Amino acid sequence: KKWVYLFSDGNADMRNLLGGKGANLAEMTRIGLPVPQGFTVSTEACIEYLKENKLTYEMIGQINSHMSVLEDITKKKFGNKDNPLLVSVRSGARISMPGMMDTILNLGLNDETVVGLAEKTANERFAYDSYRRFIQMFGDVVQEIDKNKFENVLDEIKEREGFQIDTQLTTGHLQEVVGRYKEIVLAETGKPFPQDPNVQLLMAVEAVFRSWNNPRAFVYRDMNDIPHDIGTAVNVQSMVFGNMGDDSGTGVAFTRNPATGENKLFGEFLVNAQGEDVVAGIRTPREIDELRKIMPLVYKQFHDTAELLEKHYKDMQDMEFTVEKGQLYMLQTRNGKRTAPAALRIAVEMEEEGLITKEEAVMRIEPLSLDQLLHPTFDEVALKEAVVLASGLPASPGAATGKVYFTAEEAKAAAENGEEVILVRKETSPEDIEGMYAANGILTARGGMTSHAAVVARGMGKCCVAGCEDAKVDEDAKQFRVGTEYIYEGDYISLDGSAGKVYKGSIGTQEPKLSGHFGQLMEWADACRTMNVRTNADTPRDAAVAVGFGAEGIGLCRTEHMFFNEDRIPSVRRMILSKTKEQREKYLAELLPMQKEDFMGIYKAMKDLPVTVRLLDPPLHEFLPTEPEDIEALAKDMDMSMDEMMSTIHGLEEFNPMLGHRGCRLAVTFPEIAVMQTRAIMEAAIEVKKEDGYNIVPEIMIPLIGMKEELDYVENVVRETAEKIKAEKGSDIDYKVGTMMEIPRATLIADEIAERAEFFSFGTNDLTQMTYGFSRDDAGKFIGEYKEKGILPNDPFQSIDVGGVGKLVEMGVKLGRTTKPDLKIGVCGEHGGDPKSIHFFQRAGLNYVSCSPYRVPIARLAAAQAAL
Ligand code: ADP
Ligand code: MG
Ligand code: MG
Repeated sequence: KKWVYLFSDGNADMRNLLGGKGANLAEMTRIGLPVPQGFTVSTEACIEYLKENKLTYEMIGQINSHMSVLEDITKKKFGNKDNPLLVSVRSGARISMPGMMDTILNLGLNDETVVGLAEKTANERFAYDSYRRFIQMFGDVVQEIDKNKFENVLDEIKEREGFQIDTQLTTGHLQEVVGRYKEIVLAETGKPFPQDPNVQLLMAVEAVFRSWNNPRAFVYRDMNDIPHDIGTAVNVQSMVFGNMGDDSGTGVAFTRNPATGENKLFGEFLVNAQGEDVVAGIRTPREIDELRKIMPLVYKQFHDTAELLEKHYKDMQDMEFTVEKGQLYMLQTRNGKRTAPAALRIAVEMEEEGLITKEEAVMRIEPLSLDQLLHPTFDEVALKEAVVLASGLPASPGAATGKVYFTAEEAKAAAENGEEVILVRKETSPEDIEGMYAANGILTARGGMTSHAAVVARGMGKCCVAGCEDAKVDEDAKQFRVGTEYIYEGDYISLDGSAGKVYKGSIGTQEPKLSGHFGQLMEWADACRTMNVRTNADTPRDAAVAVGFGAEGIGLCRTEHMFFNEDRIPSVRRMILSKTKEQREKYLAELLPMQKEDFMGIYKAMKDLPVTVRLLDPPLHEFLPTEPEDIEALAKDMDMSMDEMMSTIHGLEEFNPMLGHRGCRLAVTFPEIAVMQTRAIMEAAIEVKKEDGYNIVPEIMIPLIGMKEELDYVENVVRETAEKIKAEKGSDIDYKVGTMMEIPRATLIADEIAERAEFFSFGTNDLTQMTYGFSRDDAGKFIGEYKEKGILPNDPFQSIDVGGVGKLVEMGVKLGRTTKPDLKIGVCGEHGGDPKSIHFFQRAGLNYVSCSPYRVPIARLAAAQAAL
């Protein structure tokens, strides 16, 4: 079997076999660039090595024979005293990953060849400097000797001689260093430093293979979903020397600016330096532009090479090069990492330059990276001067600055006065919603990434730092303390929700820019898409934000969020606690004009775009007061004794509210609620249609259906009401009645349900929770451990479980469309904004996904990529 490949045998497509570095070295060789020649021991050899626990004879034989070929190519001899061949040994997996073994340079040096190198180059200092570097690197990475042991020797000699930098060391000093390094190796390993270059080489190759399974590499692969069984390749490459004087050097460069995307060579280099000196920060490197002055010919050649590589790979390249005595060598190229703004600019400009197609440009952008661009950011100059006060969890991205307020009411009042507000709470609850809206940002002392504050803030696209335990919040005293520092109501603080940082004082912010390269790329993405992207929005404000982000309708408008409003909650509570239908209808009548107003606002914000409204869903006790004084006030208000009130409230309590009296079950037991809501939806639609001329077709969605009979019952209530209103108003408005698919049973009988339902919307949050049988609110306690133990690959509430929950979705789609071939089917819930899940929804044949407003651009791009 072939385990070893010359650079001239490979190409860029052989990445899996040769690793990224090896495949690109081969490709650069193939297109005639100046690459120091060498060979690659394949990833297959690595896998075999890890199985056998040693290099096989066959591999060793091939390594040796390729070494002979390399000797012929370079006209040097490995281990030869007069004309020694030296090599580097470099790891390189299919996917570049940190944690693997560091590169070894100058392999092949020993007590004899170092003399030969000195003579041949007429540079004794250079030769001994190379030798001591080699022993240090080999000792560190292959023999696993503590690096500091070597560093200490250097430091000691420098101090003794009064030197500041390594370049002051003379040949004599370096010879002394070499001697002492060899003593260290002997003391640490019990054996002399290996003098036979062939032994050095095999030890280094083995060490690279072994490093595949070191703990750092293992953790990195786990975190990044990289398989553990693909192995790394090893590249053995003849050395070129950047440390041979002032006509030599080494550097790294990007073909475009990786921070901004500007189309201009960007990088750094060092004169008279080897290997990692540039990144190691030992000396301050110079900007690549200066190379033009120092070595004009080399600069021109490098500049042209960079351009050629970019055209060849059709992507921005990150390159490593070395100059030996005025001669340029390319040591590495790969697609460069970049910031989100740079990625957009590069993709759009490359299309304009004719380098890539629009589709390729669309595929180039990581959808989740767009999140960085959708939120305000701090003014960079101001941020440098800012003082960090405390740190918490980066719960919702963005930057915010404002005066501190400790209650939702005060925050709201201050905002209405035109103040910039930061709401600070121990933790938030549904009653704080309006304060959260009014605030520029939210800081909580308690709660995690899925706490109320975090979830709601993300939905609103509002900056939030949660779980900031350092902040001791005293809401009554209107102050919080961090250490000995006190912040009082009205003081300015600033929040960075992307980093979880809290700053003292006010820092200027900048609004995101959605035009330019961003706008252009999104336009191309929209042209590729086949699924629509809607939004989950409960207020005209959210709806408007989402439309600004390109939402094509509302896929989920949750009516219960409107019920938490402080003006309404009294009527809601009275309605819930009513003893008779008549009483309940009376309080529902109080709510009707308010609900109607909500829907009118939403219709106006959405204009001609479709709006799906879901009937009341949560268990009713969620609306009831918990504080004794509130309960007492409510009892008085409703003419009930405290005993009666308490027993009524207890009567509404449930053991498993999520599996209790909620969803369509509310409409079955209290049809008058569905009647009121239908009336609000229909009257609002009729009025806005008349006033503004929009083409409104309300979509009324019934939640939590599990039986066809439930749907039949509630649908009749809704349709009778709707028809009555149409007659009353003399309107011929069209409307649709559909259902959520969120109970596993519903997906199993989707063909029956589709007989009545005019559309489906998969509620994958509930569907996931009911399919797995674990509650979303409690799963956080064990999901982490499930992932650690390899029982769950990832959190099924974040990315849909294709194998299980996904199967139910596919079945629901298939059965539904056997009844109604054109049935419109969408998804609402967190998965609708998750790129991985979106790929699945495309395959499943959905018509649209619906997600929170700030996820809309991400979903648009992910849907485009899923369609390509
Ligand atoms: P990494 O993956 O950490 O970037 P590399 O294998 O690219 O490691 O090696 C790091 C550096 O070592 C290179 O950037 C280059 O400067 C130097 N280097 C590697 N191989 C050679 C070589 N054959 N000749 C000269 N320098 C080399
Ligand atoms: Mg490199
Ligand atoms: Mg649900």
